[in-house]
Amino acid sequence: MLQDNFGRRFYYLRLSITDVCNFRCTYCLPDGYQCDNDRDFLKLAEIKRIATGFASLGTEKIRITGGEPSLRKDLPEIIQACKQTDGIKTVALTSNGYKLEQHLPIWADAGLDALNISIDSLDPRQFNAITGQDKLDTILSGIDNGLAAGFNNIKINTVLMREHNAHDLNTFFNYVKDKPVSLRFIELMQTGDNKEFYQQQHVSGQHIKNQLLANGWMPTIRNKTAGPAEVYAHPNYQGTIGLIMPYAKDFCNTCNRLRVSSLGKLHLCLFADEGLSLREQIQNDDVAALQRRIVSLLDNKQATHFLKDGFTGATKHLSMLGG
Ligand code: SAM
Ligand code: SF4
Repeated sequence: MLQDNFGRRFYYLRLSITDVCNFRCTYCLPDGYQCDNDRDFLKLAEIKRIATGFASLGTEKIRITGGEPSLRKDLPEIIQACKQTDGIKTVALTSNGYKLEQHLPIWADAGLDALNISIDSLDPRQFNAITGQDKLDTILSGIDNGLAAGFNNIKINTVLMREHNAHDLNTFFNYVKDKPVSLRFIELMQTGDNKEFYQQQHVSGQHIKNQLLANGWMPTIRNKTAGPAEVYAHPNYQGTIGLIMPYAKDFCNTCNRLRVSSLGKLHLCLFADEGLSLREQIQNDDVAALQRRIVSLLDNKQATHFLKDGFTGATKHLSMLGG
């Protein structure tokens, strides 16, 4: 079992399969994806070895992320490979939803268990202003189709921004009233490239937590492969509301996840100073060597990130690694 020097266990791997993205989210890639050099993204065979190596060390859940993972044509094969790995119980995907409407049935057939879709506004014009894509309606109908077809494990990620959505929370609460989805507000995080935007737009999720508690929402219990959200339920709502507050004291105490970039580097934290290459071990198809490398690198995992002090590590934007 993977355990760090602070007693935290790692059941959950976030695996980025590309850093390319077709959206221009204002907080992530405001100028769009910049292709500055050739990239040798992990191949399917390498992804299988990563899944096997981590699963043999106790990983039970893999979240496939990016960039935009649905831009890879072999995404269904990647989902299937992760799902067929011994020990992996859950395969999840985080996507901007661009291909959701057409592709969800294919992903589900390949073995996808859970899906996170990013939606920062439920107003089509504002969605377009935030992402550079006029796609809200098709993304929402992709979600409705998925629910109608029985794909019930859908979460929505909403990055909280002072001017764009923080004043309009009722629209989001209303959305989950009759839909069994979990909508999670994520506090905007500072990254290497977005300091000014962060300073203008960051708002804490604490006021939402206070509002939820004052209005009859109750905290739910977290399981061992759960993500970082505090999740609240209400008897009058089919869906739930989650809060991800990376700036909160003790946020890192419950860290249960590690990350591998699309270039095969292990990131011990979203805001680590560097990625630590696993590529040699992956390419040599040597699971024992990969296990030893992961275990020895884990020794360097810090107790917390230092985001509060403005240290964003090597992460210029989250498209590099996934959220
Ligand atoms: N492209 C996919 C998507 O947007 O869902 C997957 C990758 S994206 C980097 C993963 C998640 O990180 C998204 O929900 C996105 O909104 C979130 N994210 C990106 N930059 C962020 C930031 N600076 N602060 C908080 N969340 C961020
Ligand atoms: Fe692309 Fe996701 Fe970043 Fe938006 S948040 S630009 S969809 S990687």
